[in-house]
Amino acid sequence: YRAKESGNSYRLFDPQMDSEAFDKMAMEHDLRKALERGEFIVYYQPYVDFRTRRIVGAEALIRWQHPERGLVPPLQFIPFAEETGLIVPIGDWVLRTACAQGKQWQEQGFPLRIGVNLSSRQFQQEDLVEMVQAALQETGLEPEHLELEITESMTMDVERSNEMLTKLKQLGVRIGMDDFGTGYSSLSYLQKFPLDRLKIDQSFVRDTHMLTHESAIVPTIISMAHNLKLHVTAEGVETPEQFAFLDAQLCDEAQGYLFSQPVPAEQFSKLLEERMTHGEPQR
Ligand code: C2E
Ligand code: MG
Ligand code: MG
Ligand code: MG
Repeated sequence: YRAKESGNSYRLFDPQMDSEAFDKMAMEHDLRKALERGEFIVYYQPYVDFRTRRIVGAEALIRWQHPERGLVPPLQFIPFAEETGLIVPIGDWVLRTACAQGKQWQEQGFPLRIGVNLSSRQFQQEDLVEMVQAALQETGLEPEHLELEITESMTMDVERSNEMLTKLKQLGVRIGMDDFGTGYSSLSYLQKFPLDRLKIDQSFVRDTHMLTHESAIVPTIISMAHNLKLHVTAEGVETPEQFAFLDAQLCDEAQGYLFSQPVPAEQFSKLLEERMTHGEPQR
C-alpha cells in the first residue's frame, strides 16, 4: 500500500496530474490549430520619444483571438507555447507579421522602429539568425528598423548569448534588454553584450513620483545606461507625473497606457495620422 502511494504507479494515476497532463495536451492542440487557422493577432503599442513627443516605434504584442474565450492575453498562452516548443513557429509568425507591418508604415511615411519579443526557446534555436534574416528579406524591412527584445534570464549562458547577439547584430538589427532590473544579470554583462537599449521594467516606473526604493533606482539605471551608450525606454508609463519625472531624468522613450494601450494595426495607423496632423500629442 505504502509502496503504491509513493511509487510511480500511484503518481501515474493521480487524477490531478492526469487532468493537468490532459490540459496541456488540449492546449498544445489548440495552439497548433490556432496557428493554422490564423487566430493570432499582433497588437502594437507606441514608443514615444521624450524630446519630440512623437511616436518613434511600436512594440509587437501577440494576442489570441479565441473563438470561445475571446481575446486571450499572451501571459495565458506564451508559457505553454514555450514549453511545447510551439513558440518557435508562433514567434516566427509574429516576427514576419510585425516586419511586414513595419514596412507598410514606412511606405506610408512613418519610419518606425519595430520591437519584437523573443522567447528563450527561440533564442536557443541555432537557426534564429537565419529566421530573422529571412523575415527581413521577405518583408523588405531594413534591419535597423527591427529591435529584438530579450530578457536577462535568457542570457544566463554568457558566452553563447554573446555569440548569438553578435551574429544578430551583424545582420544590422537592434537589441533591447526587456524588463530590465527584474532579472539576475550582472552589470558587467551589460558592457559585454552588444546591446542598444535597456527597457526599464514597469515595476520601477510605477512609483516614480513617490520616492520609493524602486523609483530611487530609476535615475541610476538611466545614467548608467547612458554611460554605456545605451538608449533607455521606460515601460508602463501611465501618468503625467511619471512622464515628467522620467523626462527630467533624461529618459529617451516612454511606453505605456498614458499614450495608448496596445492596439490592432489599423488603430495604430490612426494614432500615427492623428499625431501627424495635430502636432504635439496630448499627454
Ligand atoms: P513585455 O514585452 O514586457 O510587454 C509589455 C507589457 O506591458 C505588455 O503586456 C503591455 O500591454 C503592458 N503594458 C504596457 N504599458 C502598460 C502600462 O502603462 N501599464 C500596465 N499595467 N501594463 C502596460 P502584454 O501585451 O500582456 O504582454 C505581456 C508579455 O507577454 C510581454 O511583456 C512579453 O514578455 C510577452 N509577449 C507578448 N507578445 C509576445 C510575443 O510575440 N512573443 C513572446 N515570446 N512574448 C510575447
Ligand atoms: Mg517586450
Ligand atoms: Mg517588458
Ligand atoms: Mg516581458
